[in-house]
Amino acid sequence: MNSIPQKTEQYVLGTYARAPFVLDHGQDMYLYDTGGKRYLDCVSGISVMALGHADPEITAVVNEQIAQLSHVCNLYHTAPHANLAEALCRSSFADKVYFANSGAEAIEAAIKFARKYARVTLGPGKTQIVAFSGAFHGRTAGALALTPREKYQAPFRPLMPDVVYAPFNDVGAAQKVIGPQTCAVFVEPVQGEGGIHPATPEFLQALREACDRYRALLVFDEIQCGMGRTGTLWAYEHNGITPDMMAVAKALGGGLPIGATLLTDRVAAVLQPGDHGSTFAGGPVICRVAEVVLRRVSDQTMLDHVNAMSSLLMARLKQLSSPHITDIRGLGLMIGVEMDIDVLPLITAGHRYGVLLLNAGPRVLRLLPPLIITEEHINELTETLDSILSEFAAS
Ligand SMILES: *Cc1c(COP(=O)(O)O)cnc(C)c1O
Repeated sequence: MNSIPQKTEQYVLGTYARAPFVLDHGQDMYLYDTGGKRYLDCVSGISVMALGHADPEITAVVNEQIAQLSHVCNLYHTAPHANLAEALCRSSFADKVYFANSGAEAIEAAIKFARKYARVTLGPGKTQIVAFSGAFHGRTAGALALTPREKYQAPFRPLMPDVVYAPFNDVGAAQKVIGPQTCAVFVEPVQGEGGIHPATPEFLQALREACDRYRALLVFDEIQCGMGRTGTLWAYEHNGITPDMMAVAKALGGGLPIGATLLTDRVAAVLQPGDHGSTFAGGPVICRVAEVVLRRVSDQTMLDHVNAMSSLLMARLKQLSSPHITDIRGLGLMIGVEMDIDVLPLITAGHRYGVLLLNAGPRVLRLLPPLIITEEHINELTETLDSILSEFAAS
């Protein structure tokens, strides 16, 4: 007996707790394990599979591009690279794009760009970065320093210096901490890992004003909440406050790895060849795929669908009768159901019922279904949640 879970345990570094089944293939909203069991996917590989699994247009583009040209590195021009950069700029506040391979890498790039911008334009010493309680910006050394969670940071100290934290959504505290020493403020317009908390418009407005006052850069992390997830292409569109830089990843890749740091010309002006780089980033295959995803999730019909499904799902969730639900919140198809019990047993029960669910911290059930979800899937999800919650009603 040498099962895949056993093999994983023997040979793969144990930095993840995995579900006990083995996924084999997927189609649209569903994943199938090696035993043929079907699961309704409400995780999307953590906000990645916006178009669902095995989308035919993505499959076709990958096949076509990989046969034509798969990798050249960033010493050469390719059309997919330039085309994706143009599409990202046209769809957002940005004038320029830097390509990376993941969310954390897009954040690392933004950290370097912010530090260089402050040094070149305002001199040395303006190096402090502000991040917020509940934030998640990634696991690499710089991104980890902006992710104030004791469990993530403690084993790896000392962290990148000159980072300070303020409470999320607290205007007064943010105004107090942002000052002449600040080079950048990093914030998620909707916190994901931190429990699905949208930033208030007043909070984002106060950050924008404080950054302008002290010539610091406002950096939005839309790695999880961007790409149509909240019902607008970018989450910042909900209140019209624009950043100086923005990190994008997850759904942009349609299932393949990518990250992108979007920036204004003002910031881009300080960066030169050699300041940053990546062997793989911005390759022709991923750029072709990302251009497809960006076009499809920018489509107003898709965004209208996200908003309609969001209203329906929110309404159905509010009808669930469980004594343990304490709050239901979110934006678009980024929804958190806060409970007064540990949600991990509910996620495990979901495996039995054939529904994949995610948590955000110990007590928030996080729903991030593919954006192609329909009313039928919402019925299946909420009926299953009803059954699961009734199992836990008395506990
Ligand atoms: C997932 C995530 C990251 C890190 O992205 P990776 O691709 O896992 O490195 C950073 N910020 C936010 C908001 C995320 O959700």
